[in-house]
Order: sequence, then C-alpha cells, then structure tokens
Amino acid sequence: MTKPESAVHAYDVVISGAGLAGSAAAILLARRGVRVALLERRSDPEAYKVLCTHSITANAYPVLDELGLVPALEKAGAVRNEARWHTRWGWIEPRAAAAGPPLPYGYNIRRSTLDPLIRSRAAETPGVDLLLGHQVTGLVREAGRTVGVRASAPQGEREIRARLVVGADGKDSAVAKFADVPVRQHENTRFAYLAHFRNLPLPGGIAQTWFLEPDMAYAFPNDDGVTVMAVVPDKERLPAFRDDLEGSFLAFVRALPEAPPIDSAERITKIIGTIDHPLRSRKASAPGVALIGDAALTGDPLWGVGCGWALESARWLTEAVASTATGRGDLDKALATYARTHRRRLTAHQTLAADFAKARPFNPVERLMFSAAARDESLARHMHLFASRLIGPLRFLNPAAVAKAASVNLKHRRAATAPTR
Ligand SMILES: Cc1cc2nc3c(=O)[nH]c(=O)nc-3n(C[C@H](O)[C@H](O)[C@H](O)COP(=O)(O)OP(=O)(O)OC[C@H]3O[C@@H](n4cnc5c(N)ncnc54)[C@H](O)[C@@H]3O)c2cc1C
Repeated sequence: MTKPESAVHAYDVVISGAGLAGSAAAILLARRGVRVALLERRSDPEAYKVLCTHSITANAYPVLDELGLVPALEKAGAVRNEARWHTRWGWIEPRAAAAGPPLPYGYNIRRSTLDPLIRSRAAETPGVDLLLGHQVTGLVREAGRTVGVRASAPQGEREIRARLVVGADGKDSAVAKFADVPVRQHENTRFAYLAHFRNLPLPGGIAQTWFLEPDMAYAFPNDDGVTVMAVVPDKERLPAFRDDLEGSFLAFVRALPEAPPIDSAERITKIIGTIDHPLRSRKASAPGVALIGDAALTGDPLWGVGCGWALESARWLTEAVASTATGRGDLDKALATYARTHRRRLTAHQTLAADFAKARPFNPVERLMFSAAARDESLARHMHLFASRLIGPLRFLNPAAVAKAASVNLKHRRAATAPTR
C-alpha cells in the first residue's frame, strides 16, 4: 500500500524527470530556498536522452550561465555552435559585423556529457533530493487539486506530497496525463535518423544544415571530435528508406551539396531515429501542477530548439513561483503567470513549426527571407537570431526586415538581368 511520507509537506516542490528541464528547475528553485524532490525513473545517474542531435540554441546561454555550467561545458569540449545553412539560393552564412559584437552562440554537446553533468549539479545543490529509480505512477489529489505524486521506487510504492508538482518528464509526460491536461497535437510528416561519426570534417569546422524542400539534413561537430549526422526526409520516402537503412542513410548524405566525406568517416553509433514525432502543446499549468520542457511543448526536432526551451521554461517557472512555492503568497496566481509567459514566448514559434511540419516546400514569405539571407550579411545575422530563438516570429518578420529582404532581392534581380558589356 502507498504510504504518505508525512502529513505535512516534506517538500515544497516535487519534480518528475531529471532531464534538462527538471534538473535545471531543481537547481534554480533550490537556490531560492525551495525544498525540492527531483524524481527520475531511471536509476543510472549517467543516463541520458539518446534520441537528440543536441545542438543547444543561443537562447539557452543565459540559463546555462546562471546554472554555472558554462566553464564545465567548455572544459568538456562543447563546441560553440556557429552554423551555415544550405538553401536553393546558396549558403546562408551568418557572421559578426566587422565592427559589431560577436554572434550569440549556444553549444553542441553530446547528451551523454550534458545530462549527467546537469543532473549531478542538481544532486549537489543544497535543498535538492535527487531520487533515482523513482517513476511517477500517479498523482495525489485533494479537492480537485494536485498535492503530491505516487511513485514506484526501489523500496516500494511511495507517496510524496508537495505544494507544487512539476512535470519535466518529456513528451509523453506522466504528470500531464494524470492531471488530465489536454494536449494539442500536430502531425509531423517527416521522419528522422541520426548517427555519430569520427573523422568527418566539415567546411569551416562548423555546423551545416541543408534545407532541401521538403527534406532536411544536418551535420553538427560536437565534443570529443564527434560529428552528429542527421537526415530528416519526407515520410513519403520512409518505406524505401527503411528497406536498407544504412545504405539509404549514406546515399542521402553523399547526395548533399558540399557533402561531408561520409565514406572515409568512422561511424561510432547505431543509426537511430523516429518515424512518428508529432508536435504537442499543453497548457503549462493546472491546479498544483506546472509543466516544463517537452512536457509543456514538444516541438519539431528539425528546428533543434527543445533543449533550449527546456532550460528556458525551467527559468520562467522559477521566476514565477519560487517565492510562493515555499508557502508565501498565491501559488495559483504565480502558476498563471508562468503559463502566460510560456504561451507568449512559444506559441507563435510552434504555430510556424506545425505548418512547416507538413513537409511542404518554402512558402512565399520563407522564400523571400531565406533567399535574401543567402545574399545579404545583415539578413543572415537576422536569420541567426531567429534560428537561435533570441527573437520570435513577429520580430523576424517585422516590416523593416521584410522590406529589406524585398530590396535585397530586387537589387539581385536587377544585377542578374543587367546587360553585360
Ligand atoms: C531526433 C531528435 C533530435 C533532436 N535534436 C535536438 C537538438 O539538436 N537541439 C535541441 O535543442 N533539441 C533537440 N531535440 C529535442 C530535445 O531532445 C528535447 O526537447 C529535450 O530533451 C527536452 O528536455 P526535457 O528535459 O523536457 O525532457 P527529456 O530530455 O525527455 O527528459 C525527461 C526525463 O523525465 C524522465 N521521466 C519520464 N517519465 C518519468 C516518470 N513517470 N517518472 C520519473 N521520471 C520520468 C526521463 O527518464 C527523462 O530523464 C531533438 C529531439 C529528437 C527526437
């Protein structure tokens, strides 16, 4: 039988999932005096998310910095993630302006390095109890409100009570399911496969992304000289692709413009992937519950933004609830503030991504912005800010940027059609 830990709250906050979002939230909350139980279903402290290309966008840098992880990441060999993107108009190659500040960056760092690092930092933080091998199997609810979790643990079933339960348990969030949080789902009509390689040099030593309309491909240099290669084709290609997975993967890479020399590289992992990865959005709060990371919003992996938003949402939650989670003030009001921030910051991104997940070619606005970014340095920088999720769709498509793109393309057309002497 499930035994309550104590009639009073043993913890202020219980977090389900010690991945990126959960570990970050545990650290940030505990530093503000909140007592946190951080539950992780896996018992190995070195466990990590295998299915990820782990390019962490620049919007996450301030959170990594606040967590104190930047020196450890640099020491572990994390690669600052400069990138160039292939389009049918040529390469978009964002560079810092001659007299301007450096471009903001995040890191390419394998999850086998990042996940254990952030989890161990959480475990070392005073006020955090990391409980490994604890799988959340239900919620404790009183008068329509969540007041704790039930978990299967090495010592049997446990009931752990807290003022707030945080679901940081990924795209199939158990907390969201048990709290009956409705989910909005959008089909993703692409599939993805990836593998890690050694001895796979890339032009300029930086990340490459190929927009092949509708297919996509990526090469990301990572820590320890490892390059992640990923292909994200239209699902129409899936049956033929799967008939010969390795052959199809290699053929896809060989056919890329400026293809990396895949045949002389050494593959050091299996080719793994996902053939069904819908986009999901959930309201980020319910009475006594908050959702962060993929539990709140699962994006399309092709944009490589989930890790950054896992970290950012942990910070938004902390800023909203830290003082009320300890019993002072109105927790529901704080949760509403968090849910509002989450919606305001991410809904427009997800709307665009859901449309692009239909595996369609670029629409007219994307054609305008991408073609101009391939021809103009300042628009390439603007594109970098959007891809890094430092600006949202509204600022990306602001009237001045759209007008500039139109003028760049007009000049390009005039130059191309001008008679040669
Ligand atoms: C193919 C692919 C490529 C990707 N590439 C990128 C990329 O390049 N860049 C990027 O930013 N994002 C990428 N993503 C997305 C990224 O992996 C996720 O957005 C990110 O891992 C979300 O972090 P999280 O902490 O919310 O969830 P997770 O990393 O999924 O962590 C959830 C944790 O909760 C635990 N858990 C689950 N259920 C329970 C339970 N019932 N009880 C207790 N614990 C539980 C899990 O064991 C896990 O430790 C990619 C995704 C895919 C599928």
